[in-house]
Amino acid sequence: MLCLSADGTLPKIDIAVFADTGWEPKKVYEHLDRLEREIAAPAGIPVVRVSSGNIRNDALDPNHRFASMPLYILNQDGKQGMTRRQWTGEYKIKPIKKKIREILGYPYPSRVPKGVFVEQWVGISTDEFHRAKDSGVQYMHNAHPLIDIAWSRADCIRYLERLGLADTPKSSCLGCPFHGNAQWRNIRDTSPSEWADVVEFDAAIRQGNARANATGNPLLGQAYLHRSRVPLSEAPIDHVTAAEWAALRQETGTPDAEDPETGVVDGCSPWACRGELPEPVRDDFGLAV
Ligand code: SF4
Repeated sequence: MLCLSADGTLPKIDIAVFADTGWEPKKVYEHLDRLEREIAAPAGIPVVRVSSGNIRNDALDPNHRFASMPLYILNQDGKQGMTRRQWTGEYKIKPIKKKIREILGYPYPSRVPKGVFVEQWVGISTDEFHRAKDSGVQYMHNAHPLIDIAWSRADCIRYLERLGLADTPKSSCLGCPFHGNAQWRNIRDTSPSEWADVVEFDAAIRQGNARANATGNPLLGQAYLHRSRVPLSEAPIDHVTAAEWAALRQETGTPDAEDPETGVVDGCSPWACRGELPEPVRDDFGLAV
């Protein structure tokens, strides 16, 4: 959308916002720098980066208010579960809202008067129109220009190829539990330091989140990044088993859950979080009370 705005296909935007969870792959940050330098700056479009912290560090910090990370859980009785998914708002939507309020001149907690709003473009293509939704606040009106011009994912890829941007990476956290095996393999096989980082994180979350442990509410089970509930360094990422498929369908309660090989194909963006699959059937393993 930034490119389409810069080349005049779509109207000129006032500002482009990147919500940084602090844990994107290196190539995403490099790509963002390139977009800013080669596309946005020449077109006079400012790129603003907003953040409300580092999702990785916060999950491991016992003093940080717990952002409920969607982890796979193996309970003591052998049953499988998943922690609740409610965290993209904290790291993506919240900092964007804060910045938009500032831009409008009504920083929190002042009330934004009725009728004062921005139009916010969310980059959803026709093949993922089900992800399109309202912003939930009256001072931001969501629009979906790619759907308006009837562009599919393939149209977007062809356009990026024409611009010399065929290597555009998908934005998502390095250690996102919704990666499929192909994404985990890609990290392992192309970026040893990032692989070491996610393996270390996976080991660190095994006993649950740091704050719950510190306050005496340990998880009644073990937490994992990979849906096999095996430590990432040993997880069967080279192979997709029938059991993985079956477990996934049971977890999500849907016959058309995401493919464990590719995971959630889409990147993760505010208002189109890859974690927003149907709620898992079983999420009641909970914390000790
Ligand atoms: S769903 Fe995945 S990519 Fe999106 S914010 Fe959560 S961990 Fe990051």
